[in-house]
Amino acid sequence: MPDPFLLPRRSFAPAYLRLFQSGELAQRLKLALAELKVCRLCPRDCEVDRLNNEAGVCKSGRYATVSSYFPHLGEEDCLRGTRGSGTIFFSWCNLRCVFCQNYDISWLGEGRTTPPDELARMMLHLQQLGCHNINFVTPEHVVPQILEALFLAIEQGLRLPLVYNTGGYDSLESIQLMRDIVDIYMPDFKLWNAETARRYLKAPNYPEAARRAILEMHRQVGPLVFDENGLALRGVLIRHLVMPGLLKETREILKWIVNELGPDTYVNLMDQYYPAGKVGVTVYSEINRRISSAEYEMAVEFAGTAGLRRLDHRALHRHAAACV
Ligand code: SF4
Repeated sequence: MPDPFLLPRRSFAPAYLRLFQSGELAQRLKLALAELKVCRLCPRDCEVDRLNNEAGVCKSGRYATVSSYFPHLGEEDCLRGTRGSGTIFFSWCNLRCVFCQNYDISWLGEGRTTPPDELARMMLHLQQLGCHNINFVTPEHVVPQILEALFLAIEQGLRLPLVYNTGGYDSLESIQLMRDIVDIYMPDFKLWNAETARRYLKAPNYPEAARRAILEMHRQVGPLVFDENGLALRGVLIRHLVMPGLLKETREILKWIVNELGPDTYVNLMDQYYPAGKVGVTVYSEINRRISSAEYEMAVEFAGTAGLRRLDHRALHRHAAACV
């Protein structure tokens, strides 16, 4: 029987090429840049004038800030392959996760202001190094800036698939702007309940926004498909970080994924939570520990009970090895 999740490499072209050739990418870029004037690019709806460098919750103005870019060998096997995922880490963030594991970058904005021509050069450099894709990390607040740079990069020969690697706090409009541009959506789905999201992400509307955005991502690109070498080419890959004492959130999220997107949705159930950011012995002390083996096993069991058929194997193997 043919593999339903195989897309032969010879049949693949990055989604943005057609849009670029038809002239629609230029139209999309215009619309996106106009959004910066009264910024409602993400569900925070700050309505600040970012064209004039007014800052909202994400503290980002007209240009993106980039913290680093390099071939990332720590991503999922289907993204990193043998030569790495061409990762570009954007500074600042529209979420305020108290357990943030990139606190200096996302809360303190460590990085360098990067105009579009420089951002385009970064993409081309990563392509030249042999990376398998371009992986935009924390792109929610810089969608217009990405499009602006992408346009220049395509003109100069960019041909790699794009990965939109988001915390999941995206507006529907942003995801619609990215239609037929992004090949692989990789959203986190962090928390299920509004109250939990208020406490730990400072965004009570996160669960609702994430559900809406992920549904749209899935509508655009469907389940994750791979080439003959197991490299992801198109589709949705959902990440969920299992958190201490928050297994109910995990269960609800997994049930929703199966019910709304289907049992063939590709999910990475991550086990690497550790206390970081503002979490300590005095504040948020209830999540001031790693998860236990029993908690991770329970999360995997929830995935099975929900009927999920495609779990990323890396955390599962790591966990199995630790239990030997
Ligand atoms: S992208 Fe930034 S300024 Fe715009 S609405 Fe979101 S947090 Fe506010």
